[in-house]
Amino acid sequence: MEIFEIKPQGFCFGVVSAINLLNKALKDPLIQKPIYMLGDLVHNKYVINDFKEKGVIVLNGDSREKLLNTIIDGTVILTAHGVSDKIYQILEAKKLKYIDTTCPNVFKTAKLIKEKLQDGYHILYLGVKNHPETEGVISNNNNITLITLQDDLDNLNLNYQKIFFTNQTTISTHEVEIVYNKLKQKFPNILYSEEVCSATKLRQNAVIEAGKLYDLIIVVGDKSSNNSKELKNVCLKHTNAKCELIDSYKDLNSIDFLNITSVGITSGASTPKYLVDEVIDSLKKL
Ligand code: SF4
Repeated sequence: MEIFEIKPQGFCFGVVSAINLLNKALKDPLIQKPIYMLGDLVHNKYVINDFKEKGVIVLNGDSREKLLNTIIDGTVILTAHGVSDKIYQILEAKKLKYIDTTCPNVFKTAKLIKEKLQDGYHILYLGVKNHPETEGVISNNNNITLITLQDDLDNLNLNYQKIFFTNQTTISTHEVEIVYNKLKQKFPNILYSEEVCSATKLRQNAVIEAGKLYDLIIVVGDKSSNNSKELKNVCLKHTNAKCELIDSYKDLNSIDFLNITSVGITSGASTPKYLVDEVIDSLKKL
């Protein structure tokens, strides 16, 4: 069985920057401790557990607003996929120190949405329910409607003169295009900006090309990572390769390698390189 590493893969610049900011803060005596992580900094449990071992207190729950209200001192670190304006307001009101690791791509989309809202548009936002980025953008705003890939768009009834359609940064570009074309038929005057980030696009395109060459594609990534799940989805949708999403080498025994002669390995934008190396080492031993 031949093994190939697909490129590009792994940490994107947004994840690298978030991890570096937190590591720097941990070493900086001027940063007030403890450091609270408000939701997972990036979507990978190995990365999060590593920070827990370094003393970071990870707060997870249904509402980041409620979690924030439990903090009285220290420093709060905000996740790479952003938070709502309400979170910034609470931080300011409570005079809490914070480090913002929001990726510039997420900021850019949030800014675009705010501009369109000011111009009187109703926003149709394609995202994943309960994802931090979606939660941050929607933020209980009645002028933003969340649509998901599972929604029946034929039954979407909206009565707005001006509609603007955009999306979460880690959705599949192909899905965004399909949804836009459906919406365009329903709302001919709809405006559109595709906001999938370049790191996601490059990884998706690479996995599609690899899926045309190899029998099996293995995506190493956390089940909570949207870009990892999308890598598997685009591979299954656009190629004939078999595709599996695994957390680590420990999941390899769940894969059926019968008739597999070539394997392409890729990983999500929040997957550490050592997890991929462990998968490759284990495959070589098979
Ligand atoms: S996946 Fe894209 S939007 Fe998310 S952190 Fe990475 S570069 Fe930023």
